[in-house]
Amino acid sequence: MLRPVRGRLAPSPTGHLHLGNIWAFLLCWLGVRSQGGRLVLRMEDIDPERSRQAYADDIMRDLEWLGIDWDEGPDCGGPYAPYTQSERLDRYAEVIERLTAEGLTFPCFCTRKELRSLASAPHVGEAGPAYPGTCLHLTQDQREARRAAGRAPALRLHGTCETIAFTDRIRGPISTCWQECGGDFPIRRSDGVIAYQLAVAVDDVDQRITQVVRGDDILHCTPRQLYIHQLLDAPAPEYAHVPLVLDAGGERLAKRHKHFEIRALRQGGARAQAIIGDLAHRAGLAPAGTTCTPQDLVHGFTFDAIPKAPIVLEHDIEERLTRMV
Ligand code: GLU
Repeated sequence: MLRPVRGRLAPSPTGHLHLGNIWAFLLCWLGVRSQGGRLVLRMEDIDPERSRQAYADDIMRDLEWLGIDWDEGPDCGGPYAPYTQSERLDRYAEVIERLTAEGLTFPCFCTRKELRSLASAPHVGEAGPAYPGTCLHLTQDQREARRAAGRAPALRLHGTCETIAFTDRIRGPISTCWQECGGDFPIRRSDGVIAYQLAVAVDDVDQRITQVVRGDDILHCTPRQLYIHQLLDAPAPEYAHVPLVLDAGGERLAKRHKHFEIRALRQGGARAQAIIGDLAHRAGLAPAGTTCTPQDLVHGFTFDAIPKAPIVLEHDIEERLTRMV
């Protein structure tokens, strides 16, 4: 059955939005709007130490200023509210309980350091060395002994699938094995914080997301998330992993790139339409020098023109954006 198109903008409120975030959000927005679908804004504040409400507020303001809107979200509610991860902890706990009852999880007492020293595994993909299975077959007594010694366990999800395959809208067919994806992975950290993989997959299922557009730095997480979809008997969304945005030196944009933040560009005098037009040009959707709104790009939008190689921002981009009227 064809499901109504639903996409999501899923920022982590751990900093301000920069051009790299907006690149992915614009393409996500266009993918959904060009098919007449609905957009969810989801605040991924699952990590309490790094997330701040002030960032969440600024993120919404920046998106609005750029003309990237949403239909459901923390500010306006919707049929699958709440849309803030920290308000969904009971739901994640329920899923963890279900997976545990099915015998699919196990406590892992290994520290990061221990795992690093064990990491001789032949499969080292982007997900890092595969989990060597150290705590998978501990007996109940061994688990109790470790708990008694004061060790708090993480909870890992045990994989029973050999190969996970999907077709990415931009990268084409992808097929990978469980070990290449990092093997049995944590769904709850030892400090009790829910892992990103679990929260994102459960949210995508519950919020009926049919289309995920995001940076290809997360591509290696997708098989793990698809596995959770399978376990929850939920249909898989379609994925489009867009190339990353890099600075002129080839580094991916990060917190220290303050000058590429939307609010810095705005304060420097850049217009929203200049920023959108520049990104549209890089996506193969408009000629150089275009100024436009996201809405102007909806008609005829296609992922086909989007390059597969990373987007490199030139040294003088802020100046250029600021000069464009
Ligand atoms: N919240 C994640 C981030 O900002 C994105 C997660 C996703 O799109 O699946 O990096």
